[in-house]
Amino acid sequence: MQQIEVRASRRYTVHIGAGVLAKVGAFVRGLPRVETAVVVTDDIVNGLYADRVENDLRAQGLRTLRFVFPNGEASKTLSTFGALLEFLAENRVTRSDCIVALGGGVVGDLAGFAAAVYQRGVAFVQVPTTLLACVDSSVGGKTAVDLAAGKNLAGAFYQPHAVFCDYETLQTLPDRIFADGMAEVIKYGAAFDLEFFRFLEANDAHDRLEDVIARCVTIKRDIVAQDETDRGVRGLLNFGHTLGHAVEACSGFSVSHGSAVAIGMVLLSRAAYKAGLTQADCAPDIAALLQTYGLPTETPYSPEALCEKALSDKKRSGKTITLVVPQKLGRCVLCPVPAERLLSIVQAGAGV
Ligand code: MG
Repeated sequence: MQQIEVRASRRYTVHIGAGVLAKVGAFVRGLPRVETAVVVTDDIVNGLYADRVENDLRAQGLRTLRFVFPNGEASKTLSTFGALLEFLAENRVTRSDCIVALGGGVVGDLAGFAAAVYQRGVAFVQVPTTLLACVDSSVGGKTAVDLAAGKNLAGAFYQPHAVFCDYETLQTLPDRIFADGMAEVIKYGAAFDLEFFRFLEANDAHDRLEDVIARCVTIKRDIVAQDETDRGVRGLLNFGHTLGHAVEACSGFSVSHGSAVAIGMVLLSRAAYKAGLTQADCAPDIAALLQTYGLPTETPYSPEALCEKALSDKKRSGKTITLVVPQKLGRCVLCPVPAERLLSIVQAGAGV
């Protein structure tokens, strides 16, 4: 088992190992004046792990409640969020009680946002059950729901009190959900750590999950420590995401986040090289590694369609767009470019 300490506006530990699910109950019991633990989960994870977690919490003498909602991004709404807050209030959950987010990114984002605002903040523990949530969304304190105008437009920075990544829970993931997480794993190597990238080329991540998750969490921890509220270097974590989000949007969100980020990393790397933003062509190495996990590296959408979506992103500010560009494999930099130049850059990558 590995433990990684995060130093942000709250200090907490990320526990990574086989069987750490069994440690959640004792951790929650140790919170000051806690009486009730609320397990928040989706209808898939509910059938897999919720009984086990709830039984452990009860064995610690805690009252337990469970809030279950339909799986998928379509649930990440103000409506589900409101229902969760009303559920907490109806059941007289107090400020010293604890929310346990058991599931993937949607569960963590929604439950974390509820924890941030219910009675102005209650304790919350992240128990990620997808690879994507283990390596990305469960660490760093970003919580949110989607609005009609776009994803993650209402939320809060609210760090968890602890994170428990039990990679045995990843064994039940369908291959395509595992691959989705691998896109973010490969992102950490490509953008921050050449040695880790080479490790991923030489090893099957399935066999080295503890090391893989620990490395990703350590990289993210170090970035969050420098820029918790995402005003600067935290933007480097968005490598592949500008064009990735555009691919997601063009597909009407039928292309998964991980697949879209995979495509985005390759497109952007090639485009940045061809347009002269970098001296290194990292696209072939990144594409080859992504393909070993069955991830796509090309898109049918035109540069025009992608740029239109990228530039209409509701979170974009002003007349520039900040790209994350690989200077070389394992090292990315933030590269602000005028919005009107984006099309010519993406066209260069597409060979138009
Ligand atoms: Mg992402």
